Amino acid sequence: MAGNADDARGPLSVQLVAGQKALVTGGNSGIGRATAIALGRAGADVVVNYVAGADEAEQVVAEIRGFGVRSYAHRADVSDEGQVVGMVARMVEEFGTIDIMVANAGLQRDAPTVEMTLAQWQKVIDVNLTGQFLCAREATKEFVRRGVVPEVSRSAGKIICMSSVHQIVPWAGHVNYASSKGGVGMMMETLAQELAPRKIRVNAIAPGAIRTPINKDAWDTPEAETALLRLIPYGRVGDPEDIADAVVAMASDLLDYVVGATLYVDGGMTLFPGFATGG
Ligand code: NAD
Repeated sequence: MAGNADDARGPLSVQLVAGQKALVTGGNSGIGRATAIALGRAGADVVVNYVAGADEAEQVVAEIRGFGVRSYAHRADVSDEGQVVGMVARMVEEFGTIDIMVANAGLQRDAPTVEMTLAQWQKVIDVNLTGQFLCAREATKEFVRRGVVPEVSRSAGKIICMSSVHQIVPWAGHVNYASSKGGVGMMMETLAQELAPRKIRVNAIAPGAIRTPINKDAWDTPEAETALLRLIPYGRVGDPEDIADAVVAMASDLLDYVVGATLYVDGGMTLFPGFATGG
């Protein structure tokens, strides 16, 4: 298996999840793409879920196979129960089991509240919250069936929910999105409490502003980026790899005692930067 000694991102993720089987939803774009690749580099076999963009998914698969691990792309809408059930069932058939579920797929449908349609509200809740629930539930069934395999990992399985700083930061004009991420936070903690006795670790990663297609308007002009940087004490917009490395660490036994936690990976965005000079 290829190591990543030459990789610019350093040895952090070297083989941290060797031999484990991971599934990343929305794995053909942005954070999911970087996460799927990082897990593959760190030694996992990876299922790359996508709902649209088969070519991009196949490119990610090819890159992951380059690390000497197994990978395939699977089309499924995470908000569709039957498709999620089928996706995890196929993975158990092809890879034998699942050790790491990264519930990453998400979207925005922004509008001021008085203009927000029920369809916009529902779509975001369906994908961002219900989709994560369905993925967590299906992975949990397999974790419980299989139990701990000590040679693979100290835990019976890991669920990593892709949340957002908007799990705790209100966001005008995005009530559907902020509500979905607030829900993800409570869902994650409740699942963690329920499943910890079965040695299943459930945690969340909460990104700040990361350079991906979902928030292109916020960073793709110098003016927009300058405005955005006022919210980020660390002085740079995040890269998908910043989140991917956090996911690999969270999924690995390095963080085996981390249960029910939200790791904010946000360059300090949740530190109330407005109070640095005022208040
Ligand atoms: P992105 O648009 O690049 O990726 C989102 C992915 O989810 C895409 O692959 C998309 O096809 C997929 N997806 C959407 N609906 C789906 C469905 N029904 N079934 C399966 N897949 C579906 O955006 P991103 O920034 O990489 O977002 C990934 C996650 O990170 C999301 O949950 C998002 O809320 C979260 N996040 C992003 C940021 C950021 O700044 N980019 C910040 C906080 C949280």
